[in-house]
Amino acid sequence: MEIKLIKGDITKIHADAIVNAANSSLLGGGGVDGAIHRAGGKQILEECIRIRNRQGKCNTGEAVVTSAGNLPAKYVIHTVGPVWNGEEDKSSKLLKQCYKNSLQLAESLGLKTIAFPNISTGIYKFPKELAGKIAVETVKNFQSENIEKVIFVCFDDENERIYKKLLD
Ligand code: ADP
Repeated sequence: MEIKLIKGDITKIHADAIVNAANSSLLGGGGVDGAIHRAGGKQILEECIRIRNRQGKCNTGEAVVTSAGNLPAKYVIHTVGPVWNGEEDKSSKLLKQCYKNSLQLAESLGLKTIAFPNISTGIYKFPKELAGKIAVETVKNFQSENIEKVIFVCFDDENERIYKKLLD
């Protein structure tokens, strides 16, 4: 499995799936979530609403999938990261679940490429260094048959620096 780092906007990425750092309502929000719904159009929100009506809200650490509307990606995998509250063990486990469940979902759909934002490191205030370490470790440990490429999309300079170092 190839691991790649890109600096930029995840809504522009041509991958089989891009991952959204959603919130448990699945109804959109700020940050990358807002950007994905804005660029992807209303089809994504309509599918999120259908998922909610079927299964209720999405718990932290879990992942669900929709199509990608007007985005160049084929699917959006929505996962809910933990809000950082200083409980390092608990939050780390939940963040790991986000990466693992998203990868598992991509794997079960037979997808070859998946792009991740830096989940929880924006509005949810997870320390970036620790979040990066968990993200890279979880991806490297994932046993995959189908996934050929994982792209970490860093939006801010600090995350880009952190991921460059981690992937060196
Ligand atoms: P969370 O609530 O999980 O913290 P945010 O969207 O606030 O989610 O932030 C998660 C990460 O996504 C942050 O590192 C932020 O810089 C980044 N981000 C914001 N907009 C985009 C975008 N368009 N593409 C990729 N990453 C983005």
